[in-house]
Amino acid sequence: MADKKRGIILKAISSFYYVFSENELFECKAKGIFKHRSKEIFVGDEVLIEVLDHGERKALISEILERKNLLKRPPIANITQAILVFALKNPDPNLSLIDRFLVLAQRQGLHILVVFNKEDLDTDNVAKELRKNYEGLGYPIIVTAASERLNADLKKYLFGHRSIVAGPSGVGKSTLINSIISSDLKTGEVSERIGRGRHTTRFVELIRIDEDSYIADSPGFSSIDLFELTEQEIKEEFTEFHQYDTKCKFGSRCMHETEPDCKVKEAVQNEAIPAQRYKSYIQLLTEIRANKRRMF
Ligand code: GDP
Ligand code: ZN
Repeated sequence: MADKKRGIILKAISSFYYVFSENELFECKAKGIFKHRSKEIFVGDEVLIEVLDHGERKALISEILERKNLLKRPPIANITQAILVFALKNPDPNLSLIDRFLVLAQRQGLHILVVFNKEDLDTDNVAKELRKNYEGLGYPIIVTAASERLNADLKKYLFGHRSIVAGPSGVGKSTLINSIISSDLKTGEVSERIGRGRHTTRFVELIRIDEDSYIADSPGFSSIDLFELTEQEIKEEFTEFHQYDTKCKFGSRCMHETEPDCKVKEAVQNEAIPAQRYKSYIQLLTEIRANKRRMF
């Protein structure tokens, strides 16, 4: 009877899976029963492995344990937190993109942490306004300069989570991840052990921070469409609108656009809801409608 251990897949390269189990990294292949379903094994999956050769740390994956969720881009399982990174400058924060990220991450039921990076370049203090707007929505916000220091609060938010770092290219995602790894781990030792050289975003990979905390990078991107959502679903994700829903003249049927006596529009006018958020919302509705027209 082979020695069975529980572990987590940190990375996958062709048909090899690298499983971290009991403080060691095993190079694994999937057992015969998974061969035809190998596309169904993902980084982040928790698995049982049967050790074949302990000295060589080779094993077979014999079982995939229940998966709590699966992200599509990048394909990764069991993520609990999205860390959305934007730069305050170079590149300028794309507010519409932030709101789209928030919709996506919320739909996945993820904890959300928003990081505004490159504070050192923020001579116009854009951070102040952004912090106010997004903290007002209930998201924890961190303003930092990843290339200069590791924000102490950030570590607190990582604890106990499997986080994915997402955001446009060039905002400092890799810099941020590298600063976390090098502060928390004896980098050389660990990266050697987990076969990790310089940081690369070509393959999705979970990096172990401690017993309960992992982090993964995702490829940067510059646009997100949410065509698969309905208008109603979009409205749901603008959670700051909810408290007004029942007060609008048309109640929960109000889409907060051209309807009379709309309390959301009133709140935007009184600046209780940031104008930018409302703008993002209308933009999304407009896009979804235009896309439907294209399809039919
Ligand atoms: P990624 O594409 O999101 O992974 O971004 P990188 O981590 O590769 O960073 C892009 C560029 O921004 C690099 O030249 C970094 O050195 C730089 N950078 C990262 N963080 C900061 C920061 O806090 N301040 C400044 N001024 N530059 C930064
Ligand atoms: Zn309304």
